[in-house]
Amino acid sequence: MVPEQMEKEYMRTGHMGCPGCGVATTMRLALKVLGEKTIVVIIPGCHAVISANYPNSVLTVPAFHSAFEIAAPTAAGIANALKLRGDNDTTVLAIGGDGGTFDIGLQSLSGAADRNENFIYLCLDNEAYMNTGIQSSSSTPENVWTMTTPGGRRGRKKNLMQIIAAHRLPYAATATMGNPFDLMEKIEKAKAVKGTRFIHALAPCPTGWRMAEDLSAKATMLAVETKIFPLYEIIDGTQYRITHEPQGIPVSEYTKIQGRYRHFKDEEIASFQRQVDADWEELIAKTKIRA
Ligand code: SF4
Repeated sequence: MVPEQMEKEYMRTGHMGCPGCGVATTMRLALKVLGEKTIVVIIPGCHAVISANYPNSVLTVPAFHSAFEIAAPTAAGIANALKLRGDNDTTVLAIGGDGGTFDIGLQSLSGAADRNENFIYLCLDNEAYMNTGIQSSSSTPENVWTMTTPGGRRGRKKNLMQIIAAHRLPYAATATMGNPFDLMEKIEKAKAVKGTRFIHALAPCPTGWRMAEDLSAKATMLAVETKIFPLYEIIDGTQYRITHEPQGIPVSEYTKIQGRYRHFKDEEIASFQRQVDADWEELIAKTKIRA
């Protein structure tokens, strides 16, 4: 990114998020890249509270609040209206949390992606329904504490990127605020492509992850370096590319800074490590597949 772009802000100060919120920081970084010719689609979730508590808004770009399950088709509708008006420059950015993407909005996202509608979808994944009080979603990792899974969630985190890849989107990628230049580069690449583009960003929630508010960036860096959340991109659903080679440090370095993992015993840590190692091998195998 050019330095002038780095200086630009499209979120004013005074947002309504908790200190250290990864959702707010990720939105801020994405908007720096997308610039003033952007229309944001917002659905219920912490990002809705962060961006606009009526009658105020921290966004300096237009935003449209839609229903929980329809971020993607709302964005598609706006994109089609812009096309009818001959506007080919404005980017439409749909933002959903993991609840609005992995669960409630998945069907409508799939439909819009199937039609290759022209928008960027940014999934801000904090691994639970944080805005309504830390309830488990299908993005919550196995055995993790939430208010609705006090003994630990049963079942593994849904592999959303495999579902996204099956739609053969022109561009999809994972990103985190702890790797800001990688994130912004991916937003820039997504901006340059037409059709449905998808960014899956791990967005720490100090409140729900039960950790200190200054640990958000560190948590995402540890998620990447442990291989829990690898950074990669997928072109046309088939061409996988790792964008950052992780150090492969033990998953316990990630879990020990978060209270939601505090009840983990040695066997849970060992099981988590085995899953992460297996998922990494599967991902590496995919990088060798070419269309
Ligand atoms: S509850 Fe979590 S995601 Fe929501 S604003 Fe607070 S830190 Fe951010």
